[in-house]
Amino acid sequence: MKVSFGAAIYCIWQERNSRLHGGTPTHKRDILHLIIDKIQSRIRFLHLHDNHSPRSLQVALHFNIPIHLKPDLIRTCSWIKPPVGVAKINTDASLSVNGASLGGLIRDPNSVLALFSIPASGDDITILELKAIDYGLSLAQEKALIRIWVESDSLNAINIINSQAPCPWKALTLLDKIYLGLADFVDWKVTHVWREANSTADFLSKEDCPCKGEDIPPSSIPISLKDIIASDSAGFHKPESLPINFLRSVTGTGAVHSDGVSCQSWRLAVETYNIRDWETVPESCETYIGNYMLGDRYRKDSKVVANEAVLYAESLKLGGDGKDVWIFDIDETTLSNLPYYAHHGFGVEKYNSTSFNEWVALGKALALPESLNLYQKLVHKGFKIIFLTGRNEARRNITATNLNNVGYHTYEKLILRGSSDVETSLMYKSRQRSNLVEEGYRILGNMGDQWSDILGSNIGNRTFKVPDPMYYIA
Ligand SMILES: [Mg+2]
Repeated sequence: MKVSFGAAIYCIWQERNSRLHGGTPTHKRDILHLIIDKIQSRIRFLHLHDNHSPRSLQVALHFNIPIHLKPDLIRTCSWIKPPVGVAKINTDASLSVNGASLGGLIRDPNSVLALFSIPASGDDITILELKAIDYGLSLAQEKALIRIWVESDSLNAINIINSQAPCPWKALTLLDKIYLGLADFVDWKVTHVWREANSTADFLSKEDCPCKGEDIPPSSIPISLKDIIASDSAGFHKPESLPINFLRSVTGTGAVHSDGVSCQSWRLAVETYNIRDWETVPESCETYIGNYMLGDRYRKDSKVVANEAVLYAESLKLGGDGKDVWIFDIDETTLSNLPYYAHHGFGVEKYNSTSFNEWVALGKALALPESLNLYQKLVHKGFKIIFLTGRNEARRNITATNLNNVGYHTYEKLILRGSSDVETSLMYKSRQRSNLVEEGYRILGNMGDQWSDILGSNIGNRTFKVPDPMYYIA
C-alpha cells in the first residue's frame, strides 16, 4: 500500500511539473502504467513474507513478485498442558473500583499443585501483572519445583521480562526480583497466552473470587473453578512441541522427527553402540532429546540401571581387605551437567570446551539421584569407590568440592587426566584400570555413560551403562 501510494504521488507530481513547464500532457492511461511500473520495480527486490492466503497469493500474482508464503497457522486458544516434569504457572491481575487483586495457579500435566488469590496495592495494571508473576514464582519455589513455565495474558508484562519492551522505572526493583526468582529454577520460560487460555488465573484474580488465600489447598477449589480446570485439561491433549529449550525454535514434535527418522530409534541405536563416532545430536531431535533428558523417562531409565547394579552388588561377598572397588565415571554418570546442556541444545550444539569448562568451574553439577543412591549402598556394603574421569587434573579441586557438595563424601581415589594423557578416553581409562589391577584392586563393578568407560581392558567383572544421548566420547 505504501509503495503504491508513494509511486502514485511521485508520478502525479512529475506530470504536474512537466505540464507547468510546458511539456506535453501524458495520457492518464500511460500515467497509470508508469505507476504500476514503478511499483513493480520497487517491490521486485523486496523479500516479502506473508501468510498463505488467497489475498496474498492474488497480490503476488498480480504484481508478479516473489513472495514467501508461510503456512496459514491455526492459533489455538486452549490452555496447553506442560510437558512431564514441568510445572506451569498461570497468573493474572485485575483492577476494579474497590482495588486490585492477583491470582494464579500452578499445574503439572495431571493435577493442580497450588493456587493463590490475594489482594494487592497499586493501579498500574502492568505492574500488577508483574506482581502476580512474582507471587507465582515464590509459590513455586516454596513447592520446591525446579522446571517451570510461566504464562500471563499481559503481553506487556511478558515482553518486559523477556527484554522485548522497556520496563517502567517504577517496576525495575520488581523486575530484578523476578529475575532473581527465575534464576532459582533449573529451567524456565515465560510466555504470553491468550486470555481465553488463561481463564483459571483470571478467575482467581477477580476481586469476588470465592476462594481467597496465599496458598489455597487444591482440595478447596470451588466447583466453578474446577469446571474451568477440567475444560482446560480437556482442551488440548497434544504435548507441547516447544517444551524445554527456550532458546531456539525447532520443528517436529514428540518422538517423531521431521525427515521421517524416529529420534527414539536414533537414541536406541546410540545407547546400544550401533551408531558410533557421532558428533552431535541431529538438530531435528533436539526437542525429543530435551524432553527425554528433562522428563521422567531418563530418570526411569537410569533407575533401571542403578537397580540392576544394586542387585548385583548385593549378591557379592566382599574380600574385606579393602581391595574390592567400584569404578564410577563422573560426568553424566555420578554428576549431571543437565543445567549446562539444557542451555546448549542438549547436544545439538558442538561441544565447546571453553563454555563447558566455565560451567565445570562453577562446581554446580547436580548429583544423578539414582547413581548417588547406588553409591551410598556400595559404600555401606564396603566397596571402595574410585572415580575415573576424563576431566582434566586442573579441575581436581572443583570436582572434589562438587562431588562432596552433592553427597559423594568418601572415595578411595579420584583419577583425572594428566596433561600428558593425550590418548582416547577408551585407552586412557583402560590404562588407569590396568594400573589399579596392578595395585591389587579387584574391579567388581564399573559404571559410565559412555561406551569408552566400559570397553577396553580390565573393564571389571560387570559393567553398567547409564543413558546419555547428548554426546559421544571415543
Ligand atoms: Mg561421562
